[in-house]
Amino acid sequence: MSKSHISTHLRQQVAEQSRDRCCYCQSQQRYIGILLTVEHIIPESLGGTTTLDNLCLACWDCNLIKGNRIAAIEPNTGTTVRLFHPNKQKWSEHFCWSDDGIYMIGITPIGRATVVALKLNRPVLLLHARRFWTEVGWHPPR
Ligand SMILES: [Zn+2]
Repeated sequence: MSKSHISTHLRQQVAEQSRDRCCYCQSQQRYIGILLTVEHIIPESLGGTTTLDNLCLACWDCNLIKGNRIAAIEPNTGTTVRLFHPNKQKWSEHFCWSDDGIYMIGITPIGRATVVALKLNRPVLLLHARRFWTEVGWHPPR
């Protein structure tokens, strides 16, 4: 979690850069009902700076689950890989949605490790919410 103060201006820049959605689970700000957090991609405890390139929007759950990690286990090989970096890597190169839009699928080692580590298919909230959002045409985000 962030300890540094984030100015309103910086928050606006981060929100724009993150396209007003959680950079991990892709939940969109306008549908979730609570304010997304500003998350340090490289945690401050590991030397990450409070600058636009190291900040992204994240929902509370993704932020908490990620904690101060920057790496995770790739489930197919058991090797440790870096977590997805929302500002340096392209979402669509590491993830895709299942045909019904409900499940996020990792398509690279980084994608697979990030889906597992951040529990990006959390049943209680994400799957139920995505099912509803898909029904009303709000999901997946374009
Ligand atoms: Zn999230």
